[in-house]
Amino acid sequence: MFKKDFLEEYSLFRNFRIEDVNTANVQLWHKTPINMKCHVCSSNQTFNMTNDFTDEGYDKFEINGADRVFDLKYLCQSCKSFKRRFFIYVDENIENIHKVGQYPEWEIKMDKNLAKTLHKHAKTFRKGLVCESQGYGIGAFAYYRRITEEIIDELLDSISDLIDLERKAEYEEALEKTKNTRVTQEKIKLVKDLIPSILKPNGMNPLGVLHSELSEGLHAETDEACLESANHIKSILIFLINQIISSRESAKGFTESMKSILAKKSTN
Ligand SMILES: [Zn+2]
Repeated sequence: MFKKDFLEEYSLFRNFRIEDVNTANVQLWHKTPINMKCHVCSSNQTFNMTNDFTDEGYDKFEINGADRVFDLKYLCQSCKSFKRRFFIYVDENIENIHKVGQYPEWEIKMDKNLAKTLHKHAKTFRKGLVCESQGYGIGAFAYYRRITEEIIDELLDSISDLIDLERKAEYEEALEKTKNTRVTQEKIKLVKDLIPSILKPNGMNPLGVLHSELSEGLHAETDEACLESANHIKSILIFLINQIISSRESAKGFTESMKSILAKKSTN
């Protein structure tokens, strides 16, 4: 019923569409174990749900889960002392759910690598995370779009280093054209079909998605719709930045090991 990803990752008020529910009877709902940070164990641990969907505060004989808020209590299975709690609203048709509360609160965490890479834009990124944590989708979208606009030139330049020799000229040519426009979507459009497969997980093109999110997001009016777009933009930026950093590091490692091999050979 309440999916692992939803409980672990979703911020407040971000809509989750349930696809596999075939019953409104809460007694038949499954209690999903989750894996999250335990503040006592100071590591990620499995948490199990310790109460029932029909627990205190509700009529025990009311087994229809529609249009209700559920209080889910979770306990760390390792220390048996650290608790997590989620308040979740289930809509009238048992089709959509969202969190209305969570304790400890959804973490506004920023990856060290990311903060370092974003440098002066890290503050804006954090503001996006704060908006997201409160369900302010329009705000989160605006902050993540702003970052995208500010780093897009650097980002596209960095991608150039990851392109094979055969396609490099083509990419560089497109990259030159991106300097002629100030519109982020147009820049992305020029190069999105030329990115290397290392930047395409499962064949999905993150620049293609980024392009459509930035274009469509402008017309989305609700916090709910913007929250979804904001989350996609954030995930793509994180993915691209991490991929670029790790490719650079492995290339550097490769060059260094080649150098040491060659150095050994020359002394032999
Ligand atoms: Zn623990």
